[in-house]
Amino acid sequence: MRDHVRILEVGPRDGLQNEKTFVPTEQKLKFIENLIAAGLKEIEATAFVSKKWIPPLADSAELSTQLPRVPGVTYTALVPNLKGYEQAKKFSYDRVSLILAVTQSHNQKNLNANTEKAFERYEQVIAQAKQDKMPFRVYISCAFGCPYEGEIDPVQVIKWSKAFYDLGASELAISDTIGVGTPEQTRELVKLLLQEFPKDRLALHLHDTNNRALENCEVALNLGIRAFDSSAGGIGGCPYAPGAKGNVETERLVKKLHSLGFETGIDLEKLKEASKALKQLL
Ligand code: MG
Repeated sequence: MRDHVRILEVGPRDGLQNEKTFVPTEQKLKFIENLIAAGLKEIEATAFVSKKWIPPLADSAELSTQLPRVPGVTYTALVPNLKGYEQAKKFSYDRVSLILAVTQSHNQKNLNANTEKAFERYEQVIAQAKQDKMPFRVYISCAFGCPYEGEIDPVQVIKWSKAFYDLGASELAISDTIGVGTPEQTRELVKLLLQEFPKDRLALHLHDTNNRALENCEVALNLGIRAFDSSAGGIGGCPYAPGAKGNVETERLVKKLHSLGFETGIDLEKLKEASKALKQLL
C-alpha cells in the first residue's frame, strides 16, 4: 500500500477570510460539497471571530447549521476565545483550531494580546475543550518569519509548540503564515520539531508567497511529515500579515504528492472543478 498523506482543506476558512468578495452562504456550502465530492475528508469550515474584523466569515453560524454531514468527513472551526469555542461546540464541530504566533507583534495585531496573555486565554478554552472531549489543533503561526519582526528563532517555535502539546493538542500546525520559508529552513525546523514531538502530531501549514511551498512540503515529506494544510485554488492570505499570499494550492499539492507516489484519496479532476466554480464567484 502506498503511503497516505492527510490534507486539511482550509480554503473555506483561511482562504475565504482574506478574499474581498463575500461569498454567499449557499455558495460556500456548494464549495464544501464539491470538496467532499473530490475526496477531501478534513475541512476547516469557518472561524467564530468578530464579524467586524473578518466580514467574509460573518455567516459562520448560518453556515455551520447547514454543513453537509457525511460519514468520514470531519469539520474544524477556528476559535479565538471561549465565546468562539462555545459556538463551535453548539454547532457540533469535530475539532477546533487555535492560533498563536511566535512573535509579540503578530499576536498584538491578530489577537489584541501579547503572546503570554493570548496563551492564558487559550488555557481557558483548552480546559473547556478537554472537559467536552473536543480535540484541538494549534496553528503555531509565523513559525518561518513574521511580517513585523522578520526572522524567527526556531527555539520560540519549539517553546510554544511544546506549551500546547503539553496541554494535549491533537496536532501542531507549524505555519508559514507569510510564505517566506526556504527548503533549508524547513529542513532545520522540521528536524528540530521531530526531536520533540511524534511525527503524527505535526502538520505543515504553508503559504505560497515565494512559490516555494511545494519544495518545502517535499522536504518535510522526506523527513516523515504526513499532514499538510492547503486551500483549493490557492486562495487566501492573512488579514493581519500584509503581503501574505494564499495558502499552498490543494490541486498542486495533490498533484505533487501523487507524482511522488503518495496516496491522498483525492480526485484531482473533481478538485479542479471545485476550485473553478469557487473562483468564478471571487
Ligand atoms: Mg494561514
